[in-house]
Amino acid sequence: MQYHLDTIPLWEVMQGHCQCPFCALQSQSERQEVQCALGEKVMEPASRIRFNELGICAKHHCQLLEQNNRLGHALLTDSHCRELLPKLDHLSGLVQKGRKGISLPWSGSGSSPMDTLLKQLEQCTVSCVICDSVNTHMDRYFHTFLHLWKTDVHFKTLWEASQGACMPHTIELLRKAKKSLHGSRQQELASSALALLKASMTREEEELAFFTQQFDYRNHGRPWGDSKNALERTVKRLRGGFDQETYTEGQNEA
Ligand SMILES: [Zn+2]
Ligand SMILES: [Zn+2]
Repeated sequence: MQYHLDTIPLWEVMQGHCQCPFCALQSQSERQEVQCALGEKVMEPASRIRFNELGICAKHHCQLLEQNNRLGHALLTDSHCRELLPKLDHLSGLVQKGRKGISLPWSGSGSSPMDTLLKQLEQCTVSCVICDSVNTHMDRYFHTFLHLWKTDVHFKTLWEASQGACMPHTIELLRKAKKSLHGSRQQELASSALALLKASMTREEEELAFFTQQFDYRNHGRPWGDSKNALERTVKRLRGGFDQETYTEGQNEA
């Protein structure tokens, strides 16, 4: 696959000293895609066909609901339902007795008809047009990261001084590195990514432990330091995908 190297957003998040550059880029991409879904893409025939076919996952439906454009959201969801209903009608036919030719063989050997039915039902719920677009953006960002890490000494220095990435994005980075870097370069990046992950998680764990100790009456009045949002930061380190705005709200409460 040919990628357009989009370096500016990557430099910006790296220079912003964020907790995970890929989480920051993912949040940006998700916000753009969610806004576009209810904006210009609502009326684009090609986009509507993709929406109808793939649907939208629960997480991104929640983000669409937050946009307060109920009409646009309802139009998208309505046309997806219209696409889905004939598929459900077809599946209903498969489980009805007496419909010759299409009924699944519920008795006898061979693969379970329930498995066939479940597989087809699951296919109606596993895809998301927004996830799909965000994944395409993220593939490009990972590719750009590896290109800059390989070719630009300033970028590499910035990475070495950073907090590394969250666990899921560290895994994804190394998965991509396996495909595009040679052996010794793979080892170099794996060593650096794991060292940064370990250092960041060690610091966050200490701050989280400090946070829990603040609830001990013996520590009453002790300054919270950086510990108030240690829980949000540790969750983000462990599982990634924490929305930047939610994270900022956590900081504001602190
Ligand atoms: Zn991340
Ligand atoms: Zn999604």
